[in-house]
Amino acid sequence: MPQNLLALNWKMNKTPSQAISWAKELLAGLPQTSAELAIMAPAIDLQGLGWELKDSPVKLGAQDLSPHESGAYTGEISAAMLKDVGASYAVVGHSERRAYHAESSQIVAAKAASAIAGGLIPIICVGEALDVRERGEQVAFTLDQLRDSLSQVPVLGAGEIVIAYEPVWAIGTGKTATAQDASEMADAIRSALVGLYREYADGVRILYGGSVKPENIAELCAQPNINGALVGGASLDVASVVGMARAL
Ligand code: PGA
Repeated sequence: MPQNLLALNWKMNKTPSQAISWAKELLAGLPQTSAELAIMAPAIDLQGLGWELKDSPVKLGAQDLSPHESGAYTGEISAAMLKDVGASYAVVGHSERRAYHAESSQIVAAKAASAIAGGLIPIICVGEALDVRERGEQVAFTLDQLRDSLSQVPVLGAGEIVIAYEPVWAIGTGKTATAQDASEMADAIRSALVGLYREYADGVRILYGGSVKPENIAELCAQPNINGALVGGASLDVASVVGMARAL
């Protein structure tokens, strides 16, 4: 069983100075936990956080990255830049980027490949919208999105990936998938990964995301194929992060 990952997705919250104060507060009361803790911060916060957290077990990640290695891509940030300021992870294909920045699974696949090539672990997000679930098509939809988003990651072994199942209807809405629904999807994702990556599939962490909080994280992460959580709203407050970490 891989170690649980508690990935905190701050989204577009916290200025660089707020991020540093937050990290100091966390380090002052870092909880005992069996989980790995990682902050997916706005890119501009990463350098300061990197300094603040460098002697701690807390890891860092970006919320996005360029599919390109370097060059004339104004406004973009490369894997090498993220790595240089201490990031270990990069979220790719979050539903907000798919929806507001027209990111297709092909773009997500290129970003995942770019992260791996640059020495980062991509956290690849997939998940269905409400209308898809209401039609009962959530598994087929999510697995299609998964395969397309992994199309440029043909083999594992040298690289590592994390998958985050985030049903769009559960993000920021207070509506969490039931542990059973989340578990069913995690099982389907694991089977698809076995088809793609054979013996390496068991080591891939599958996270659940969508209105995770201290009260529900233990039950979700107790499911056999759920290996942690990607948390938005509840990641902004140190006390709730401590509560979630302690629950794992
Ligand atoms: P939420 O967001 O925890 O606020 O629902 C999760 C996410 O979007 O990663």
